[in-house]
Amino acid sequence: MSKLSYDTLYGLFRDATPLKADCGAVCGGACCKGDDTVGMLLFPGEPTTLPVAEADGRRFVLCGGHCEREARPLACRIFPLFPAVDERGRVRVIADPRAFPVCPLARQAQNVRFDPRFTRRVRKAGRLLAKDPACFAFLRELTDELDEIVRMNELLQ
Ligand code: SF4
Ligand code: SF4
Repeated sequence: MSKLSYDTLYGLFRDATPLKADCGAVCGGACCKGDDTVGMLLFPGEPTTLPVAEADGRRFVLCGGHCEREARPLACRIFPLFPAVDERGRVRVIADPRAFPVCPLARQAQNVRFDPRFTRRVRKAGRLLAKDPACFAFLRELTDELDEIVRMNELLQ
């Protein structure tokens, strides 16, 4: 996927955030309090100016909890939702279970009124990503992983 396409994806979230209000005011910006060992996953071919680490064939931004807002990766823009895709490329927007430990919105997603514009943009981002073969494969892989985490969480309840 070209840089131009990521610019398009980023543009979807220039004026769309999880809530109409600033959710960071509720939790103190918990999702940006990670240390240098916690990274945000980059999508295939996603460019970044932030420090990057690689593990298991995946690239992660190691931001240390600081970035220029305009430089934040797609994973941060869609957080705490995720565009799960099925084998036919249909997108289902879900609360990302990887966000549960830090994000009250993700944990309480059933009761939270996400800004519908934000949810629509996450779906749109998923549809655009699903058109790219590498991103589609990546979304499918992550969708399976996240579904598994949800199943495990249910078992442990
Ligand atoms: S942790 Fe969740 S509620 Fe807090 S700033 Fe991040 S997205 Fe908003
Ligand atoms: S890259 Fe920026 S927005 Fe994303 S977690 Fe780090 S500080 Fe927060």
